[in-house]
Amino acid sequence: KNEVRLCVLGAGGAGKSSLTLRYVQDYFVEFYDPTIEDCYRCQRSVDNEVAILSILDTAGQDNYSAMRDHWMRCCDCFILVFSVTERQSFVQLDEFYQQLLRVKDADPGEVPIVLIANKMDMADVRAVNPCEIQEKAQYMRAPLIEASAKQPFGVTESFEEAVREHRKYNLGK
Ligand code: GDP
Ligand code: MG
Repeated sequence: KNEVRLCVLGAGGAGKSSLTLRYVQDYFVEFYDPTIEDCYRCQRSVDNEVAILSILDTAGQDNYSAMRDHWMRCCDCFILVFSVTERQSFVQLDEFYQQLLRVKDADPGEVPIVLIANKMDMADVRAVNPCEIQEKAQYMRAPLIEASAKQPFGVTESFEEAVREHRKYNLGK
């Protein structure tokens, strides 16, 4: 099947909505309502194969953990976003990752994940160094993509990589 239910997860302010809007509608908003959770459907060709994407741009704070359980259960592929300028968004990745494994009842390497280091246009004020980002990606067994929703770069690659991961995992099943 060509359907991919993609979930964009990450700390508030990391750039989930910006990346999603950039990919789906190709524009950048300086301020997008941080409380809006929305789902976008689009059809794209990835590696000459059609992919029908439904992209869930999640929102909300830690207290909506039950909500996150629900998103994680419903989706089959995940983009984990943090901002290179915001250390806390990097630290919080572990929480998302552990919850994901728990909800999916999966071991590391059994859930399709792509890790996005966003706001790379601001790398001169970065709060997370490249080595630890690499380590995190290896630990999650996830491809790592450096992106900027603003500039933009790495955005299309991020979503396409997620589709590839999804295909890869589905083949193995
Ligand atoms: P979300 O809470 O994860 O959905 O984050 P948003 O997409 O709403 O982005 C939070 C803030 O960061 C907004 O002010 C965005 O304009 C800004 N932002 C998002 N992506 C980038 C980026 O790649 N570069 C820069 N410089 N700012 C960004
Ligand atoms: Mg948002």
